[in-house]
Amino acid sequence: MTLNRLSRLATIAVLAVLAACGEGSKAKLSVERSPFGVLPSGDSVHLFTLTNANGLELRMMDYGGTVVSLKTPDADGNLGDIVLGFDSLAGYLESSPYFGAVVGRYANRIRKGTFTLDSTTYTLAVNNGSNALHGGIKGFDKVLWHAEPRQDTSGVSVVLTYTSKDGEEGFPGTLAVRVTYTLNNQNEFVVDYHATTDKATPVNLTQHSYFNLAGDGSGDVRNNVLTLDAETYIPVDTTLIPTGEIKPVASTPFDFRTPVAIRDQISKEDPQLTIANGIDHTFVINRTEPGLAHAARVVEPTSGRTMDVLTTEPGIQVYTGNFLDGSVVGKSGHVYRLRDAICLETQHFPDSPNQVAFPSTILRPGQTFTSRTVYAFSVVER
Ligand code: BGC
Repeated sequence: MTLNRLSRLATIAVLAVLAACGEGSKAKLSVERSPFGVLPSGDSVHLFTLTNANGLELRMMDYGGTVVSLKTPDADGNLGDIVLGFDSLAGYLESSPYFGAVVGRYANRIRKGTFTLDSTTYTLAVNNGSNALHGGIKGFDKVLWHAEPRQDTSGVSVVLTYTSKDGEEGFPGTLAVRVTYTLNNQNEFVVDYHATTDKATPVNLTQHSYFNLAGDGSGDVRNNVLTLDAETYIPVDTTLIPTGEIKPVASTPFDFRTPVAIRDQISKEDPQLTIANGIDHTFVINRTEPGLAHAARVVEPTSGRTMDVLTTEPGIQVYTGNFLDGSVVGKSGHVYRLRDAICLETQHFPDSPNQVAFPSTILRPGQTFTSRTVYAFSVVER
């Protein structure tokens, strides 16, 4: 084989691994790499297409570790793309509100972009009014990750690695981060996070997919029936920074302890809903022991698609697309409007470095940060 042909093969599809899958299945586990454009820096961006034995397909790119599309079957078996995004890299570079990305080094807000740790006060890049949001001006959503495809008999993965420099966006310490995306034959999208540091630093990582289980571009998610395993939630001030309280959801529109349509809660009068233009709050996941806990379930009645979210994290930020205002045009020319998606971002609590009563987000040298979130897809029985 000529070198030319070798390099062409390398560019077009470096890895296409087919694993044995269940008898009679039509699809096969595979992960393929293809070009997805070039960054202004000249670096190439790659798209990875992960397919499981049931035909579910997840496409993600190494820029931002971004989930670009996720196709799951509806109750009639028709595949549909259930995440918002863009058809090409350009959209992600121009105006993406974190569509599908890995968010870090600190997901969510840090008040006035400052915190004191071990007697040193750090100043972060501020990018959301007076606050730091989602890691700053150039967070983990805007960097090119190193990406390695992997497979075994039960699933296909892409292992993303990135080393965040000491001082990046104002954060202390060199942070070595690994995020592994796996699509398995149980129709689960599993995200594993791993990080180590050489200086004490806050770490809070999440996945920022905007879900619309009826399908991208199919309108708003108000009819989605949401259940949250949360007795309490975290109220915020007018800049969406926690007030420090943790309040019961009982007798508030934040009560999703039993399945309820988002519309029925979000249309209620409540100062917290007014501040955030909807739900943009962290819910404290009920937990009796460490490990994976069920956090959320979304049922989309028209398509019959369901999604369960399980996580090792203490919280889940529920964001009802409050800032989607029709100004972003995404896949196939779809205009994304208010409530056209729901984000279920598993994470620690916002502003933890300034909130002594919240679980610590500080990672120290010698410690390892690990975290897992599972998005499990299914359909309702009809
Ligand atoms: C935040 C929102 C923010 C959105 C997009 C969410 O995680 O909670 O306040 O607008 O991300 O940036």
